[in-house]
Amino acid sequence: MSIVAPRGRKHLSADALFRLVRSGFATIPDARLSDPDISLTDALMSAFAMFSLKSPSLLAFDKERAEDNLHTIYGIEHVPCDTHMRERLDPVTPKWLRPLFLSIFRQLQRGKGLEPMAFLDGHYLVALDGTEYFSSKQIHCASCLRKVHRNGSITYYHQMLGAAIIHPDMRAVIPLMPEPIVNQDGARKNDCERNAAKRFVAKLRQDHPHLKFIVTEDSLSSNAPHIETLHTHGLHYILGVKEGDHASLFEQVQAAEHAGLVTHYERHDRAAGLVHRFRFVNDVPLNASRADICVNFMEYWEIGAAKVQHFSWVTDFRVSKRNVFHLMRGGRARWKIENETFNTLKNQGYNFEHNYGHGQQNLSVVFAILMMLAFLVDQTQQLSCPLFQAVWAKLGSKRLLWERMRALFYDYALASMRQLLEALLYGWQKPQPIVAFDSS
Ligand SMILES: [Zn+2]
Repeated sequence: MSIVAPRGRKHLSADALFRLVRSGFATIPDARLSDPDISLTDALMSAFAMFSLKSPSLLAFDKERAEDNLHTIYGIEHVPCDTHMRERLDPVTPKWLRPLFLSIFRQLQRGKGLEPMAFLDGHYLVALDGTEYFSSKQIHCASCLRKVHRNGSITYYHQMLGAAIIHPDMRAVIPLMPEPIVNQDGARKNDCERNAAKRFVAKLRQDHPHLKFIVTEDSLSSNAPHIETLHTHGLHYILGVKEGDHASLFEQVQAAEHAGLVTHYERHDRAAGLVHRFRFVNDVPLNASRADICVNFMEYWEIGAAKVQHFSWVTDFRVSKRNVFHLMRGGRARWKIENETFNTLKNQGYNFEHNYGHGQQNLSVVFAILMMLAFLVDQTQQLSCPLFQAVWAKLGSKRLLWERMRALFYDYALASMRQLLEALLYGWQKPQPIVAFDSS
């Protein structure tokens, strides 16, 4: 009986995606074309390979690098030393990395990898959230955000607005190009998440003029200007709200309750031992000062034997008994941007908060975006490549998968990532020592 290897996906396998990434890097303008040693493409690809292999640090990567495999698998001609890589990447303008995210997204779309992520009538849920990945009292660069303390000392830090297409039933997420929250040239005030979100949604619409999106965010985003921005760009929303932050809204809901305008609805899930309790009302003003911005409000209690969980959201979808359960699942899926995205990057081998090098201009931001790109390539395989899925299922954890992957990468001469994944799936046949006998 022969074993049939799970087929890799022609355009969605690691090897095909690495080629796509490399060709994208090759189009980025190089300010130092005269560099005789290392091309910008090689420097970018080396950093990408470092994150793709989940190398714990630039130094470890530099020391252990397996030059031949970096050449055959990642297409790197000359691998730079760590200092050289930092120097080459520091001046790269982060916006040049945007087309890379788009080209992988397009590939995923063409390979029907996006379809299982559709959430509601062909709409995709996009979760947005800010995260901090660097903070220091000493190390800083031109794009650092700054906090001046009362004693005059300064904390420098970096944040970004992360975004990913998510689905309540899917483990994989599809990260989009994050929006760096950085000190803008000449600005006296720090950039902030709200401004970054404004830039993000405009670019999202530019990149995907025809896709239908539902944006889901936490309660900080439930403010009139942001809802107007979403509306301007034709984006639907399910946004968290909190009684403490949205007092006027909750008063309006209470008034509607007294007037008998609020709908109550319950669904029992006996198998799970849960009661899903809802109340909702459409067309209520978000706040007292902006009565022109009306939203649809829904509140939800998940009642189990041991605990009760409580959430509230506003949305532009008209809420009814028919769709309230589904909308609730969309609102609750928002945690995937924290859990399946940021926490994975911070704790599952990617070392998001590790300082791989800070630079003076953009290095810290460029590294963070390249790590997100490596994560996108991994998630694309997780979503669409049966070979990757089979290896992951066999090893049981991502941590073990990355560890085994690195061990093979450093120890064996490999022709492709496919060969590496097949070796992990079927076991590696150790080469037999060749013993020469002198038969004379
Ligand atoms: Zn900085």
